[in-house]
Amino acid sequence: MSVAHLDKLNVAQRKAVEFGIGLPDGQTAGPLLIIAGAGSGKTNTLAHRVAHLILNGADPRRILMMTFSRRASAEMSKRVGRICTQVLGQKSSIMTDALDWAGTFHGIGARLLRDYAEQIGLDPNFTIHDREDSADLINLVRHELGYSKTETRFPTKATCLAIYSRVVNSERPLNEVLKDVFPWCAMWETQLRQLFAGYVEAKQAQNVLDYDDLLLYLAQTVCTPDLAEDIGGRFDYVLVDEYQDTNRLQSTILLGLKPGGCGLTVVGDDAQSIYSFRAATVRNILDFPSSFTPPADVITLDRNYRSTQPILSAANGVIDLASERFTKNLWTERQSAERPRLVSVRDENEQANYIVEQILETREIGTTLKQQAVLFRTSHHSGPLEVELTRRNIPFVKFGGLKFLDSAHVKDVLAMLRFAQNPRDRVAGFRLMQILPGVGPASAQRALEDMAIDADPLSALTQHPAPPRAGDNWSDFVSTVQQLSARRMGWPAEIELVRRWYEPHLERIHEDAQMRQADILQLEQIASGYPSRERFLTELTLDPPDATSDQSGVPLLDEDYLILSTIHSAKGQEWKSVYLLNVVDGCMPSDLGTGSTAEIEEERRLLYVAMTRAKDSLHLVTPQRFFTHGQNAKGDRHVYASRTRFIPATLLQYFECCSWPIARPENARETEARGVRVDVGSRMRAMWS
Ligand code: ATP
Ligand code: MG
Repeated sequence: MSVAHLDKLNVAQRKAVEFGIGLPDGQTAGPLLIIAGAGSGKTNTLAHRVAHLILNGADPRRILMMTFSRRASAEMSKRVGRICTQVLGQKSSIMTDALDWAGTFHGIGARLLRDYAEQIGLDPNFTIHDREDSADLINLVRHELGYSKTETRFPTKATCLAIYSRVVNSERPLNEVLKDVFPWCAMWETQLRQLFAGYVEAKQAQNVLDYDDLLLYLAQTVCTPDLAEDIGGRFDYVLVDEYQDTNRLQSTILLGLKPGGCGLTVVGDDAQSIYSFRAATVRNILDFPSSFTPPADVITLDRNYRSTQPILSAANGVIDLASERFTKNLWTERQSAERPRLVSVRDENEQANYIVEQILETREIGTTLKQQAVLFRTSHHSGPLEVELTRRNIPFVKFGGLKFLDSAHVKDVLAMLRFAQNPRDRVAGFRLMQILPGVGPASAQRALEDMAIDADPLSALTQHPAPPRAGDNWSDFVSTVQQLSARRMGWPAEIELVRRWYEPHLERIHEDAQMRQADILQLEQIASGYPSRERFLTELTLDPPDATSDQSGVPLLDEDYLILSTIHSAKGQEWKSVYLLNVVDGCMPSDLGTGSTAEIEEERRLLYVAMTRAKDSLHLVTPQRFFTHGQNAKGDRHVYASRTRFIPATLLQYFECCSWPIARPENARETEARGVRVDVGSRMRAMWS
């Protein structure tokens, strides 16, 4: 077989790709860690490794690939497909189609749990709660226990959920988590313990799992030796990208699946660890080699292929100031005379103007919108920019922002599918009954309680008397649930039935019903891409599509569009031009955290992640004033800002420092009638600078 596909790789990458392939007697190689800095080709190497495995006879159905998002996993499968096609031609697509076990830990977890549900005492029809549903359920239990009434300062539902999630994902006891992460809630330890016990009981009674359960149940499953052997035995190879952002529970799962590390490859960069708020721990990657006897092999990569030398030097400068790190500085052959820009502007509106001007200029010289991205620390930072882009008709897609699925009407439709699948799902049931005119919270609760105590909740619903003022709305609702449960019309026609049931309600509830109807039609279209209702619900709940400038939430696939993304969601990606918003103290590092050393260090790594997304040009923008939320009684105010502390004066040599707009004649506002030129705007600005 030709190995031309390996020719482009450097020596270390090739070693990682070929590691342990072709061992005698079908032996599988032991564990391998690839640890290296940004843009050194880790993901690319992993894709080549998967392709090389397949080309050497590995069965793609027995390869498990875990990535950090569904987008990343789709990209990985595409790359593997391309490499195989290069070598084998058309027929390779058939092989890579079988690469079915590629996804996120949560997505893979949900699929495996359905397969093994009966063995672990789960009903395979379980539904999955997103964060909002989980918070609603915790709130319900909180009310039942009476904490919200008697204890007025009891933590909010969101905080309760955050504490619960932290305990589960870090595998640490509640008292320690409270002491270290939520000290202001420590006085409620006893009540929280009771609340969480009630929450777990409610989830079990209702046959629902939350995000954390997907990992927790899977970890429990793989801790049962027989089941672990069975699940682990389904996969010859397990490969994980972005391993630095996994938490304890995820490493437990991985080591449970492959206790000896056979066929296990993990890839990551400790300098890019940015998910500690989800209990990710960089120790997972640092401790990986010693988790095995003999220890795992380690391959490091030190050549960066992504960025130009000036961009890389600036990023290296930022990360060099970190207090602790394992991976070494990178080098690149990509020379350029263009240093990254550090641009001072007056405020966020000016920042938006600067970026739009630059983006259009860059497009003029041949870089499409898709090859450019604007990154920010927190989703709401992009507000003024979104306004400006919309005003100038520049299409954009926003990653990691408000999600399509967060809109009430889309949630209503999904709740119906969920309720039909699992009539014990009370959050879904309550939501739906509240849509019906003439059904108040009390009647909804009564119906749901009847269902909860009945062995057959669906027949309890059918027999439950209609609330007096609900009339036909109640019977229509019950009959829709029945039809869906019976699965008469098959998938994806079911979703059309839900739409027909929902439309009259939509028109009654929302003034902008027409726009929302379009969303639901889009949802139907998305649904048709999934093989079953379960897969659709699971994958959409775990990793919804991103929001776009036309509000429909579905990426504008054919058009050219700009990417707006939080830094967290930009992980692993790259663009020719990258613009970074609000590179000021208070935003980066964010002043919303506790300011602990560990948090500040993580914010530094975030800046490093952001800067290393750029291939050819990088703009860091620092507004002198920016808008913050929650600083005064009304909640919001403008504050004066200074350049981020992560770029101290010693690092300025790596940047081209400038302010914008530069007072040049062509920037001046012309008053041609009198033949004079006067730049009123910059004079006004000068008063404040
Ligand atoms: P990150 O840390 O951001 O996840 P990474 O280490 O995973 O980055 P990749 O995304 O795999 O890096 O690669 C970065 C860029 O370098 C990609 O455009 C990739 O195609 C290119 N690249 C990687 N290896 C090589 C190579 N041997 N020759 C040419 N280009 C390469
Ligand atoms: Mg990568």
